[in-house]
Amino acid sequence: MDRKRVSVVVSVYNEEKALGEFYAETLKVLLGLDWDYELVFVNDGSRDGSLEILKELAGENHRVKLVSFSRNFGHEAAMIAGLDYSTGDVIICMDADLQHPPECIPEILKKIEEGFHVITMVRTKNRSAGKIKNITSSGFYWVINHISDVHLEPNASDFFAVSSHAARVLRSNYREKVRFLRGYVQNIGFARTNLTYEARARVAGESKYSLKKLFTFSINTILCFSNMPLKLGIYAGIFSGLLGLGVMIYTLFTRGGAPSGYATIVVLICFMFAMMFFLIGIIGEYIAILFTELKDRPVYIVDEMRNLDNGQGQS
Ligand code: UDP
Ligand code: MG
Repeated sequence: MDRKRVSVVVSVYNEEKALGEFYAETLKVLLGLDWDYELVFVNDGSRDGSLEILKELAGENHRVKLVSFSRNFGHEAAMIAGLDYSTGDVIICMDADLQHPPECIPEILKKIEEGFHVITMVRTKNRSAGKIKNITSSGFYWVINHISDVHLEPNASDFFAVSSHAARVLRSNYREKVRFLRGYVQNIGFARTNLTYEARARVAGESKYSLKKLFTFSINTILCFSNMPLKLGIYAGIFSGLLGLGVMIYTLFTRGGAPSGYATIVVLICFMFAMMFFLIGIIGEYIAILFTELKDRPVYIVDEMRNLDNGQGQS
């Protein structure tokens, strides 16, 4: 009987220092399994020696597949490409820096064998993230879970596994240009479960996510999952209407003895304009997303591949 196959998708961006150790550790785990395996590395436009290392690995092991982008398209695009080019019955996405321990793979496969289609790995400890990153991350999850219909697991990571059945849905129906893949994974339905893991410290190199990048990412995610910010205009309108009404009534009852200072007027005007510009800004953000989606540029562009048919995948 043919063995089932697990595809491990790894996004790589300037990870030359981590790749050797990652490959050795992961391979050890994969070889100990009852499953056949493929390791799908997606080189996301690395500028260091990562591509050469990956080509070498692909040369010596035909189960190592390589998709290399024409430039840096971002971690999510890399994971999407990995999903596109994977052929396994289960696809596990993980980072190249060993923060997602490969020892979790047998546990994940056990869950898949039990019939689960989506497995979210939830971090119990994040050793390398600083205090600021941890606080901003909890704030972000609080906001998104309160203003959208979806529920996003706090501390869920880009470490997850999907069955080929669930992967098909992600491949064909979730090809937005502005997106939050981890959020989609948690909200496509199917039998889903969480597993916990302890994030290790990065094995080498440094994090590619700056606070600024994370901020943009969080704003985009909120805009992707919620239309609530668009309704703020209505609330603001009601608020300023009531405020105006209140001032009017007050003026009528005090018969002209209303506050008449220059400062009051200036403060009110500034406040109202600030609110208006803020709301226009929010609408602008949504229009920017519409524009990006409308242009329909590719999620990623492949430059070269190893151990893969050219026909596979889509961009
Ligand atoms: N990564 C990527 N493209 C990018 C940035 C990061 O493919 O533009 C990869 C990176 O090589 C790593 C994973 O995505 O394998 C997670 O990145 P990182 O470890 O820097 O993020 P952190 O773990 O600090 O959140
Ligand atoms: Mg990392």
